[in-house]
Amino acid sequence: MNIKAVIAVHGGAGSAGYFINEEHRQRYLNGLINAVNAGLEVAKQGNALDMVTEAVTTMEYDGSYDAGKGSVLNLYGEIEQDAGIMWGKDLSVGAVASVKHVINTIRLARLVMEKTDHVLITGNGAEELAKQFGLWVPYVELINENKINRYKSLVRNLRSRYEKNADLAKGFGLTGTVGAVALDRDGNLAAATSTGGTILKWPGRVGDSPLPGAGYWAENGICAVSATGIGEFIIRAMASLRVVTLVKNGIRLGDAVKQVVDYVTKMFGSGNIGLIAVDSSGNVASSFNTEVMGRAWSREGMNKVVVAHHPNDPFP
Ligand code: ASP
Repeated sequence: MNIKAVIAVHGGAGSAGYFINEEHRQRYLNGLINAVNAGLEVAKQGNALDMVTEAVTTMEYDGSYDAGKGSVLNLYGEIEQDAGIMWGKDLSVGAVASVKHVINTIRLARLVMEKTDHVLITGNGAEELAKQFGLWVPYVELINENKINRYKSLVRNLRSRYEKNADLAKGFGLTGTVGAVALDRDGNLAAATSTGGTILKWPGRVGDSPLPGAGYWAENGICAVSATGIGEFIIRAMASLRVVTLVKNGIRLGDAVKQVVDYVTKMFGSGNIGLIAVDSSGNVASSFNTEVMGRAWSREGMNKVVVAHHPNDPFP
């Protein structure tokens, strides 16, 4: 086959106020470009699974995102990351949830896919796997003084520990979950999503990001999708699988992602979802109902990475 590899990534959906200054925003957008370039680099020898793994890994180590090194803290001031990855060729899935001592969480999810016969491993079991494959890191690599100070100031202002987490997450700007979708030279599709979850979430809470159908889906011949936003709504809408079903029924990719975002808005209100997708012909699309969503994409031979942030920024 003579297909040009395509990759698209996102750095989370949320509000523009999340960025403390222009330098912060630029660092965030540059990280997306780096992730696309990293994904395209492996496309020369690797497949779509390698492309999304590499792109998400880059963002997990970057520290500018709510994933890996940059993961936000839960209500108890702890890290709890979720991640999932899917291979469109045979619908293989690997996922982890509530993981504390790992930066490269997407690689751990991929180990679940490739080294076990499970789909989703949580908590201590996932950490044990991380130890066995050299992915376990001490907590100090994930928690720093900035995060602790931010956490302390946020909890100080809480009226109650039972305050609605979706409202809190929206109020603090959301943004920062990372995801990637890719088409490789052989026409295979893959998707990956990784997150520290919503800030101040209840300990043990699992969002959409490790759940296939909700936070991601990839199916050869149709499309690959990665989601971001308030996980509870994304799960209830089965947003990623909903896009795939529409495309399977002949809806254009761009219309499909928009229809699903409109559906979530109609059911649950706005400010809670963003989607990126690539189809088996290499078309890329994105849609979101938040103020901003960092997203970037490129295709082999295009020689540039298109990066966008606001709704009207040029992007497929
Ligand atoms: N979807 C993620 C979660 O609910 C958060 C996000 O995308 O910002 O855990």
